[in-house]
Amino acid sequence: MENKSKIALVTGGSRGLGRDMAINIAKKGIDVVLTYHSNKKEADEVVAEIKTIGQKAFALQLDTRDVSSFDKFLEGMMGHIEKEMGSKNLDFLVNNAGTSLHQPFMETTEDQFDDAVNIHFKGVFFLSQKALNFMNDGGGIVNISSGLARFSFPGYSVYGALKAGIEGLTRYMAKELGARRINVNTVAPGAIETDFGGGLTRDNKAFNTQVANMTALGRAGLPTDIGPVVAFLCTDDAKWITAQRIEVSGGTLI
Ligand code: NDP
Repeated sequence: MENKSKIALVTGGSRGLGRDMAINIAKKGIDVVLTYHSNKKEADEVVAEIKTIGQKAFALQLDTRDVSSFDKFLEGMMGHIEKEMGSKNLDFLVNNAGTSLHQPFMETTEDQFDDAVNIHFKGVFFLSQKALNFMNDGGGIVNISSGLARFSFPGYSVYGALKAGIEGLTRYMAKELGARRINVNTVAPGAIETDFGGGLTRDNKAFNTQVANMTALGRAGLPTDIGPVVAFLCTDDAKWITAQRIEVSGGTLI
């Protein structure tokens, strides 16, 4: 009988950190479903790369701000999984999709606040809740937080507070899902060179140097610093780790 691979769903897997997570998860012998918001072409490139590794993969569109779309999305996704991967369930969920909000506290509008809540907290909460109906016991969930949940930079009040909220939520999920042997952890990256925030860390030399100077290991982060850590959490070697916040920042502001 064919030995079926486990399956991971990675939100925002088309670019940046999610792309590297998806590829590294595949390198662990896990099939991957990745989502994109508007960038189908880049998502398809990630799918092609995963196939060259020898794992199955496909990409679906999802707006993680839109909770009302989740039931239909999951139903469609499970149909694809059954057809293309020969399985009826998921094993891992990585809640990675996200956008930056840099706005002074006094200038933050209610619309900006609601949008950030939807993508960074409400979407994560309900996608996890609904996806769990399709998850095998013994699997895992990784929620992506940020160094900004621990240290504070002006302009990140909503973003940083929501990421701190995700860290609290992670502990509650770990507590309630332990009975199903599902581990739930947070990975909190430091500033990483991606498109995030208009490519601030990657493209603004002064900011990049500022990050390097406040980081023990002396540079800003790269997507390849994060993906392998998330992938490790999707392996049996990590099965006894739950409710933890793992900061992957090269020692920023310690
Ligand atoms: P990128 O901007 O490089 O990529 C964002 C990803 O999220 C893309 O795949 C994008 O899809 C997807 N996305 C954007 N909006 C939505 C939406 N409304 N619904 C669903 N998917 C969406 O960001 P990063 O890879 O840098 O960030 C990934 C995560 O890491 C985020 O949660 C972020 O908060 C966190 N993080 C990032 C840090 C950094 O410095 N980069 C530091 C700490 C945490 P598409 O390609 O289709 O647009």
